[in-house]
Amino acid sequence: MLHCPRCSDITVLETLECPGCGLAVGLHPPSLTMREATASGIDIDGVQWSPCSNRDWRCNWLVAEDAGSGQCCSCRLTRQRPDASDTIALEKLADAAGVKRRLLVQLAELGLPVDPYYEREGGLAFDLLSSYSGQGRVTIGHANGVVTIDLVETLDDYREALRIRLGEPYRTMLGHFRHEVGHYYQWILVEQTDWIHECRELFGDERASYSDALDRHYSSGAPDGWESSYISEYATMHPWEDFAESFAHYLHITDTLGTAAAGGLVLHADRVPGVVAADVVPRSSYHGVPTSAMLADWHWLSLLFNRVNHAMGRGDLYPFTLSAPVERKLDFVHRVVQDVARRTAGTLILR
Ligand SMILES: [Zn+2]
Ligand SMILES: [Zn+2]
Repeated sequence: MLHCPRCSDITVLETLECPGCGLAVGLHPPSLTMREATASGIDIDGVQWSPCSNRDWRCNWLVAEDAGSGQCCSCRLTRQRPDASDTIALEKLADAAGVKRRLLVQLAELGLPVDPYYEREGGLAFDLLSSYSGQGRVTIGHANGVVTIDLVETLDDYREALRIRLGEPYRTMLGHFRHEVGHYYQWILVEQTDWIHECRELFGDERASYSDALDRHYSSGAPDGWESSYISEYATMHPWEDFAESFAHYLHITDTLGTAAAGGLVLHADRVPGVVAADVVPRSSYHGVPTSAMLADWHWLSLLFNRVNHAMGRGDLYPFTLSAPVERKLDFVHRVVQDVARRTAGTLILR
């Protein structure tokens, strides 16, 4: 939970000014805390931190004086962006950049490495481009560390029309970012390590032809009964997509449970007799906690959140059902994430 450094009011990730006292605030990436944002910079542990040069585009992160750039570490990860003359696309870029910052905060909280492309060959980069910008058709995807996002998907009517046409229960920008970064982590944490053997047993052999899989998926769709072993129809297309979908769901579940935990939410068994067997106490981190316990918390909380959404006339918050094979895939992701988190412990992930 983020707080204003002056009045302690609660701030959210996107906050530029404290809602309580009006202080200009910015996120200090290494500590994931809100600090005062002043043009002259503030001293944190002997280093001056100033607002990111994209603050006019609603970026509220701070950047260190020795970063070699006026842009924060999130903005520096953006390798390609729309042309400076395309102000409409730049407005959409600002929306997508906010989603990217949310993603990065979660990656850092989980202890996942964020090695920038400009520091390491094959490091993480984002090409945030628009199919409406005259740069040609943009295909959302991942290759060699570069995540490409089509900014037109920030347009609600466009994205929603696509969601309905593709028969998807859920389609968001955050979902795209989580899915694509899943491809990146499979590439660096699984395919280049011994995890690949168990991964192939669970998700299938990723060396199968991707173009054949693509053709098959868009001509005949998901196989009958896919729900019993996949989280989504898209996951059935190719082992890579199955992993990326499972990874995205791992991020959906842990972030939502963490948010509930930060808000102090507890489901008391004695207040809903016959429903919840024991108190459900979500955690800010499930590091060291078995996947089964995490998914048990998620079972009860997602049912509640779905009912909360219905109370507002909306559909399910989490319109998915987790079958036993999908739970085993999530367990694999949980173990891979914890394994790398043990190795990154104590290092600065966002800097
Ligand atoms: Zn304040
Ligand atoms: Zn920035």
